[in-house]
Amino acid sequence: MSNKGNELYETVKQRINILQDENCLERKFGDFWKLACTVKTRQHDMRYLYDDTSREFVEKYRDQLIKIRENFVENMEYYVEKCIDIMRKQNFKVHYAKTNKEAQDLFMEELGDSKLIYKSKSVEAKDIGIIDVLEKNNIKINETDLGDILVQLFDYKLPSFQVGPGAHFTEKEIADKIKEVYDVEIEPNAKNIVEFFRNSYRKELLNEVKVSLTSANAISAEDGTIVLGENEGNISLLTRATEKHIVVCGITKIVPTLLDAVLVTKLQSRINNVSFNYISLISGPSNTSDIQGRSVTGMYGAKEVVVILVDDWRTKALKENLLFKEFLKCIGCRTCNYVCTASRAFGNIYASKYGLGSTAIIRDYIHNGIEAAVKDGLFLCTGCENCYHWCPISLNLGEIIKALKKNATEKGLCPPPLKEYQDKILKEKNPFN
Ligand code: SF4
Ligand code: SF4
Repeated sequence: MSNKGNELYETVKQRINILQDENCLERKFGDFWKLACTVKTRQHDMRYLYDDTSREFVEKYRDQLIKIRENFVENMEYYVEKCIDIMRKQNFKVHYAKTNKEAQDLFMEELGDSKLIYKSKSVEAKDIGIIDVLEKNNIKINETDLGDILVQLFDYKLPSFQVGPGAHFTEKEIADKIKEVYDVEIEPNAKNIVEFFRNSYRKELLNEVKVSLTSANAISAEDGTIVLGENEGNISLLTRATEKHIVVCGITKIVPTLLDAVLVTKLQSRINNVSFNYISLISGPSNTSDIQGRSVTGMYGAKEVVVILVDDWRTKALKENLLFKEFLKCIGCRTCNYVCTASRAFGNIYASKYGLGSTAIIRDYIHNGIEAAVKDGLFLCTGCENCYHWCPISLNLGEIIKALKKNATEKGLCPPPLKEYQDKILKEKNPFN
C-alpha cells in the first residue's frame, strides 16, 4: 500500500462518514436517491426496472440497439467522416475537435464577444470541459431545464442525477428560496412553482437568447440530422429562438441512420420514464426560399447551427483496445445508475464531477487517471454486475470497473482493509473466520 493509497482511502472514508449526519446534503440526496431508485425498480423486483410497457419496448429493440452500436464502433471513422460531410452539405457549420482542449478553444471562438449563454442537456459539454472554460472566462450560464435552474438557484455543487437534477429539493425549500432570491411569495406546491418559472423564463427564452448550447441525443450519419428529446419545451425554444445554436458532443453520439437516432432517443426516454413530449429533428439552420426562390438562412429559427464533434479519447480507445473501449457503445441512458448497489448505498458519494455512478467514474478515469477514479469511490463498487444485466446494450460496466480496480491495485491504491482481507484469505484459506 502506497502513501497515496492510504491518503485516497482516508479521503473516501471521510466522505462516507459525512453520511452519518442526517442533515448533510449528501445524506439528503442519498436518501432521496435510494427512494427514487427503489420506486423506479419497484422494490426489489428487478424485473420491473422499467414500467411494464417501457420494459417491453426496451426488450423488443435490445438486439437492434446492440447491432446499431456495434456497427458504429466497428466503423467509427467511416461514420464520423460521412456524418461531417453530409452535415456540411446541410449548411451546418461543423468542427471536428481531436482533443477536448481543441473543442474548448473552438467553442470560445464561436462564442465571440457574447458574455451570456443559455444551455440545456449539457452533460457532454461538462465531459468535454466546456462548462469549466465558460466559468473560467466569467461567461454567465443560464440554465433552462427546471431541474438545472433549481440546482443553480440553490448553488448546489454536489453531483446530481441528470434526469431531474433538482428533484431532491422539497416544495417548501423551493418556495422559501424563491422568496429569498426573488422576494416573491408563492404557495409551496409544484404547480405554483412551475407557473412562477414559466412566467419569468418563457419570455426570456423567446426574446433574449443570442447563443445557446446543447448536446444531442443522437446524430444520424445518413443525413446529418441532430435528434434532441425533451419534455419541458425549453430545448425547442433554445434551438429555435436563438441566433446561434452550438451543439457540442462526442463523436459517439453518431449512429448510422435517422431511424437509429430516433430509436436511441426514444429508448433513453422510455428507460428513464420521462416522456419526451417533444423530439426535435434538426437538419440545418432556419431558412426560407420564399423570395424569388433565393435561399436565405435565419428566418424565425437559428441563423447558424454550429456542431463541435469531439474525439479526444474515443478513437484512441478503439485503436489501442484500451480497457474502457466497450464504453464507446454507451448511449448514456443511466439504467446502470438505478440498479447500482454502490449508487443506492452511497448516492452522490459514488460519483465524480461528471455525475453519478460508474459511468461518471469511468469518465473521470479517462480524463484524470486512476487516482481520480479511486477518490471517486471506485472500490465501493461491489462487483454485483447489476449494471451489466440491465444495460440495454449489455455493456459490461462491471468488467471495466473490475479492470480499473486491478489497475489501481497494481499501483498500490487498493484500500487497506481489502488488502488485509486478501492476506487473511491467503493465509487462513477461509474468508469467513
Ligand atoms: S458492478 Fe459495481 S458499478 Fe455495476 S451495479 Fe454493481 S456496484 Fe454498481
Ligand atoms: S452503460 Fe449505463 S448508461 Fe451506458 S448504455 Fe449501459 S445502462 Fe445505459
